[in-house]
Amino acid sequence: MTEEKKNENFELIIIGGGPGGVAAGVYAARKKLKTLLVTKDFGGQSVVSDTIENWIGEIEIKGKVLQEKLEKHIKHYASDDFVIKEYQEVTELKKDGEEFVVKTSFGSEYRAKAVLITSGAKRRKLAVKGADIFEHKGLTYCASCDGPLFTDKDVVVIGGGNSGFESASQLLAYAKSVTLLQRGPKYNAEPTMVENVLANPKMTGILNADISEVYGSDFVEGIKYKDMEGGEEKDLKVSGAFVEIGAIPATGFIEEGLVEKDNFGQIKIDHRNGRTSQKGLWAAGDCSDSIFKQNAIAMGDAVKAIEDLYSFLRS
Ligand SMILES: Cc1cc2nc3c(=O)[nH]c(=O)nc-3n(C[C@H](O)[C@H](O)[C@H](O)COP(=O)(O)OP(=O)(O)OC[C@H]3O[C@@H](n4cnc5c(N)ncnc54)[C@H](O)[C@@H]3O)c2cc1C
Repeated sequence: MTEEKKNENFELIIIGGGPGGVAAGVYAARKKLKTLLVTKDFGGQSVVSDTIENWIGEIEIKGKVLQEKLEKHIKHYASDDFVIKEYQEVTELKKDGEEFVVKTSFGSEYRAKAVLITSGAKRRKLAVKGADIFEHKGLTYCASCDGPLFTDKDVVVIGGGNSGFESASQLLAYAKSVTLLQRGPKYNAEPTMVENVLANPKMTGILNADISEVYGSDFVEGIKYKDMEGGEEKDLKVSGAFVEIGAIPATGFIEEGLVEKDNFGQIKIDHRNGRTSQKGLWAAGDCSDSIFKQNAIAMGDAVKAIEDLYSFLRS
């Protein structure tokens, strides 16, 4: 790793060290672009997965192993011309004339002609009575991190998308029972995943469940929800609640008005090349308005962006 230098100038700054950022970094390094990659960590959102089955080239890979591989690959290129700043958060991205200015949580300021944002997304918080109070006291956002703490306990998973079913699947290895609550009339996860997980005898799925409260004393003791069809209030006695209700894009550090975003805060991109509404600024992966959110898509889109911005920088 190169020693800490503040106020450096680069051709390109990549924000994020998930699959998108790492793929972009490998391509940028090999194209010998003078690049800075700033990231809080490596590997991205699926590092919490026990098993990833669609990482092409591996029948199965653990999230942790994927993280190690991505980190090792990108660090292979670390040099004076490919600088990696890890454990740092970009707190501000703005433009000053033709240059972009990136400020980080370490008080550093970096400048570049082009920026690629691959900052991904983070979990959406449950906004009901008690959710804040019981966070880390039985209410959690990470099944693979906290699942073992709920061995032989009854738990709920809130959210019926892929992440919800994945969490349920992990929890089935420990918990006495897992109940998955989905707000709408159908599950949003892949049908085969829904079928496999619901086939487990310890598993129950409930549709049309609108959560109203998480309650307990020192720790979670239960949750209340409204049956959206019948209208009755229901009460489930559980020791744990795992929340998987979607993600919000990590785009809050971008100066207001710098780039067009959609109603969810996702950066609007040209899907052919990752260009944004701001000249010199590209985005790829889960922080963008790409319809599908997957590792391979984040990587592919980030690579397209590098190919495109290379012409911008060097033509
Ligand atoms: C539980 C779970 C399981 C999943 N399983 C699969 C799967 O099996 N297969 C699959 O293909 N996809 C899976 N996905 C989806 C996949 O993880 C995402 O589509 C993918 O990680 C997106 O990559 P990304 O690089 O765009 O963003 P992210 O993975 O979100 O990475 C963003 C990176 O940017 C960093 N960052 C964020 N903000 C800042 C900032 N301000 N400053 C510096 N760094 C910042 C983050 O720390 C992180 O390193 C799963 C997602 C979840 C939540």
